[in-house]
Amino acid sequence: MKAGSSGNPTANLSGGASAFLAKRLNGVSESATLKLNAMVQSMKAQGIDVVNLTAGEPDFNVPDAAKEAIQKALAENKSKYTPVLGIPELRQAVLEKTHKQQPEIGAKNPWKVDEVLVTNGGKQALYNAFMALLNPGEEVLIPSPFWLSYPEMVKLAEGKPVTVDTRYEEGFKLKPETLRAAIRDSASRTGGAGPKVLVLNGPGNPTGVGYSLDELRALGKVILEMRDSGHAKNLWVISDEIYDRIVFDGKPFVSFGAACPELRDQLITVNGMSKSAAMTGWRIGWSIARKELTQAMMTIQGQSTSGINSLAQWASLAALKLPESVFEHQVKSFQKRRDLTLEILGKADKIKVVRPTGAFYAFVGIGSFLNDGEDSMGFAERLLQEAKVAVVPGTPFGAPEFCRLSYATDEASLAKGCERLVEFCLKQGAKRSSNS
Ligand code: PLP
Repeated sequence: MKAGSSGNPTANLSGGASAFLAKRLNGVSESATLKLNAMVQSMKAQGIDVVNLTAGEPDFNVPDAAKEAIQKALAENKSKYTPVLGIPELRQAVLEKTHKQQPEIGAKNPWKVDEVLVTNGGKQALYNAFMALLNPGEEVLIPSPFWLSYPEMVKLAEGKPVTVDTRYEEGFKLKPETLRAAIRDSASRTGGAGPKVLVLNGPGNPTGVGYSLDELRALGKVILEMRDSGHAKNLWVISDEIYDRIVFDGKPFVSFGAACPELRDQLITVNGMSKSAAMTGWRIGWSIARKELTQAMMTIQGQSTSGINSLAQWASLAALKLPESVFEHQVKSFQKRRDLTLEILGKADKIKVVRPTGAFYAFVGIGSFLNDGEDSMGFAERLLQEAKVAVVPGTPFGAPEFCRLSYATDEASLAKGCERLVEFCLKQGAKRSSNS
């Protein structure tokens, strides 16, 4: 567990020649993948056959219903400012979706339409939440590996990201005893205050791992227990459920709000259209949280970006109303590609990978194939230059001996990329026993 560390090779944006910049930017990173992306682009421009397995977005098209709805909204001139919270029709649809996923909250203490805030993607919902909750130096527990934006957003909000390591051997899942220890440590570091926020993300980026109902219940129990014992008096849970629809093997998606409805008033559920409806560019996300917090997040949004693009909201409403069957082929296709990925990577036994249960990523342990002093950044560069495969290094996700491989690409390219990765690893051979 590392206090104040994201495992990120941070570019100090406010240092050196940019000393005029606000100190708030100290240690906040730009995207760590820019250099790699630039290399991919330049290789492609030279006509080199690069297989790009870095995509963070589905390769499917937007549902026709959304395309038709946006045209209709335009024809009807629904193009004025919308309420900062979002159009009521969309917020109502979000409520209905959420109550299906959080049935006990829906039955006993349902969310209200003014507890939904429509945002510029899931990202703005998360950013609003950190900005509204964090005082300088307050701790945010982030299970590692993590989506790389969490620690950076916490730093921008002047909070302190505290990563909580999960283990490959335990399927990269946060264990109740690990959470208990992390809360206790935080309480002792902060004079008893304890952490302000815990971030959960399932199915997760970069691991593709999701939690079962029992696993989430066990985590919820720890939070309630630690709250009662005074170690986590002010703890909020942010549950990032942006990959909710993309779950495999017939197992249902489980929302944290279903597992621990008792925490309703300390819970912020974040979701959106980007991944589950292949609408990344439309920038529609949302948060659901109790009214006082939603009002505060609305103030932040109202004074910065205002209500979200009106037409995209109408299109999202149409996509939200579609039956699950419309998206079945996408989920099936991701599952098939997950299986293909695991089958090919299985040919090199020193490549480690936890079986993803959702999303569209495989987090691949390449610790055995690192050169002395090298981490996944160096490995990814060599892989790109020598084997012509682009993957995202795990270092900015808090896992320097892993790389994230996305299977949001066609099967032929995926198979080619995975074969090249395996061949690259087998050719060079294991250099050491990995300690990840
Ligand atoms: N949360 C996770 C775990 C993600 O992977 C992403 C996008 O990659 C987001 C949130 C942000 O999603 P959006 O594009 O809706 O802002």
